[in-house]
Amino acid sequence: MRKTIILYFMPKIFSVLLFFILGFTQAQTPEKLNASEIHQEIKKLNFLGSVLYVGAHPDDENTRLISYFANKKKARVAYLSLTRGDGGQNLIGPELQEQLGLIRTHELLAARKIDGGEQIFTRAKDFGYSKNPDETLKIWDKNKVLSDVVLAIRKFKPDVIINRFDHRSPGSTHGHHTSSALLSLEAFELAADSSAFPEQLNSTAAFQPKRAFFNTSHWFYGSREAFEEADKSAMLSLDVGVYFPELGLSNSEIAALSRSQHQSQGFGSTGTRGTSNEYLELIKGEMPESDVFEGIDTSWNRIEGGREIGDILKKVETEFNFRDPSQSLPELVKAYKLIQELENEHWREVKTNQIKDIIAASSGLFLEAAAETPSVTAGEKVSLNLEAINRSSYPVTLNSVELSPNNSRLQVGQSLKNNQSWVSELDFHLPESTKNTTPYWLQKESTNGMYLVEDSEMIGLPKTPVETQATFRMDFNGTEIEFNRPVIYKYNDAVVGETYRPFMIIPEVSVSFEKDVEIFELNEPRSISVVIKAGRDNLKGSLRLESGKNWKTLPESADFRIDQKGGTAILTFEIIPPDDQDETFIRPVAKIGEKEYTDELIQIDYKHIPLQNLVMPAKLKAVRIEIQKKGEYIGYIDGAGDAVPQSLEQIGYRVEQVDPAEISDNSLSKFDAVVTGIRAYNVVDELKFAQKHLLEYVKNGGNLIVQYNTSRGMLVDNPAPFPLQISRDRVTDERAEVSFLDKNHPVLNKPNKITENDFKNWVQERGLYFPDQWSEEFAPILSMKDKGEEPTQGSLLVAKYGDGYFIYTGLSFFRQFPEGVPGAYRLFANMVSIGKE
Ligand SMILES: [Zn+2]
Repeated sequence: MRKTIILYFMPKIFSVLLFFILGFTQAQTPEKLNASEIHQEIKKLNFLGSVLYVGAHPDDENTRLISYFANKKKARVAYLSLTRGDGGQNLIGPELQEQLGLIRTHELLAARKIDGGEQIFTRAKDFGYSKNPDETLKIWDKNKVLSDVVLAIRKFKPDVIINRFDHRSPGSTHGHHTSSALLSLEAFELAADSSAFPEQLNSTAAFQPKRAFFNTSHWFYGSREAFEEADKSAMLSLDVGVYFPELGLSNSEIAALSRSQHQSQGFGSTGTRGTSNEYLELIKGEMPESDVFEGIDTSWNRIEGGREIGDILKKVETEFNFRDPSQSLPELVKAYKLIQELENEHWREVKTNQIKDIIAASSGLFLEAAAETPSVTAGEKVSLNLEAINRSSYPVTLNSVELSPNNSRLQVGQSLKNNQSWVSELDFHLPESTKNTTPYWLQKESTNGMYLVEDSEMIGLPKTPVETQATFRMDFNGTEIEFNRPVIYKYNDAVVGETYRPFMIIPEVSVSFEKDVEIFELNEPRSISVVIKAGRDNLKGSLRLESGKNWKTLPESADFRIDQKGGTAILTFEIIPPDDQDETFIRPVAKIGEKEYTDELIQIDYKHIPLQNLVMPAKLKAVRIEIQKKGEYIGYIDGAGDAVPQSLEQIGYRVEQVDPAEISDNSLSKFDAVVTGIRAYNVVDELKFAQKHLLEYVKNGGNLIVQYNTSRGMLVDNPAPFPLQISRDRVTDERAEVSFLDKNHPVLNKPNKITENDFKNWVQERGLYFPDQWSEEFAPILSMKDKGEEPTQGSLLVAKYGDGYFIYTGLSFFRQFPEGVPGAYRLFANMVSIGKE
């Protein structure tokens, strides 16, 4: 039997341009369309063609093209981002990895709301930089990612696929990028082949897209001049600089608003106006003359039984009354009924969702189920305020309101008179089985390359569908239409006014540590705190810690009691580390009655995305490091942002932040070492002026450690006292073998004897932007390489200058420290200790 197709990004068809024009940026406010926007949606309803844009990361997508196809061509457009961008940086907060992936997922959704596209993902993880697709596809489970791309094509059924990247130039860009193009083209063929991934055919059908393009540009040709001279006979050029008078915006202005949602990446973007071309190079299928949809019937005639619907809706489009959109309702309801009779399941579902939103907007229908509290636990009850109003003279009756997941139904049977509100209160009892609100792809421990998703129905979805919903059954002059609305929470904020939030299901209790990693540089016990937060009133229980066999925690168990929901209790435990180097995960277990709880509730709250709930296993990584140190007082000059100072404090250093604007002749002499944060020489203007003092400090016996900077955009000619050239050399394999160029060099021997063990269990990469040329004053210490490449020797360079030392290192200490990698700490301690007896 064939199951219903799940539509990606289900209820969202409309764009919310208006909100942005008016300055609203709340991500969860209900959409209220004006007449002009309703007319746009009717035009989209009458277009039956679709485009799938394929890239690797959030922010790879070309929002100009997505907006062009959605708003100019009126096509269905989706962006398939293979990953959620977990491996990137975060310019707006401390979240990294899974939490950053969650933020970037919602930044994509916010972007799509503006440009009119939909959003799809695969289970692939953004594990960090890779140099070529071979490396990428080894870390991803290639077959699973391919399966997900095939599934996306079979479900979304794009006529046209557009790749962001070139499948023919592996090695010229991030391996994820090239892989996205390779997998897209492989899936182009396989999607139509019923013998490929046959299990998918239980829930969807095989499908053959018509053509595939590569969205080329001068960037792929090295320069604008080279691109101008390139052979364009296999390229289609599109003027995407169109202006939309009905929206008051140019396509590029919409694209910029959309792109600016990538706030965590600092991609704020300013719109442009005027003609501007995009180029599509044909990769598969027949070359069209001028239109990507050439040879495809994109009218209602495309589907069996569509002609009659098309005739009705064409009339609705041309005779649309901008003063009173409700005049289209009789015809819209007639078309709705005909759509329900369509044999073609895919188009029936797509068009039903579109027309329902148009019917609701045309009748000024507002339906809402608002919870009285922002969150409850499974098994609890919450009071809902229901509201339904029809703001047209069209006869509409509210038959009933049904709640899920508990299936309770409120029988209403009331006709909704023009502009007369119906309101009601209803108790919503949540079943014990209601799931916590949390992203579906983060419910199981993932591998390095893949998210584990147990429910195959979820694969591809941008977010977990909201479980708590109200279904309003309405009668439109004899035709019943159902409208689903997620239960929301709203309140009045004294400053910003009406504020919407998702309604959340939270665990009864959340347990967490204040830190992610605790480093024990001595074999002395240390106290750590566990924070317990109540998800309901009158919480009483006990808590114990679990850890590896060489570690002890005291006491064995401690009781807690919290009277009010939202309240916290803090319990302190003693951790006793082993004598020898070792590491373990310490996990808290809260026991309430017979039930045990081990998860932490994390909330991520930024204005441009909806509030996010994340329920994940709580754990503390405890690391016992055998480490010796000489010198203890470090001055740190912040760069682009890293947690190195906190990490150094963890192993017993005293770290003081140094404001580079306040550095003077002798202000640094008190430090045993001065360390610059990552990319400091790219982002800290004042270093231009502080540089001479820094070198003076070294000359007088100081120790300056400069962490990686990018080769482009250096604010000084040279950060070093001797010639040094930073290159783009990097070693991305975190397991790459490391050999010692000078075994006797102090930095490898004092006070810690560095061995190959110290390069075990590194994460993500060895390092980046290594210098490739340096003067003879520098001693290169380490040699390492990625597979198939020449060895690099510039990852750690040490030079004596005057009475002190200058060290330049591209090793990614900033990634290793937060993960508690012992060898990275031991090597860094040697760098700080150098020259000290
Ligand atoms: Zn990318």
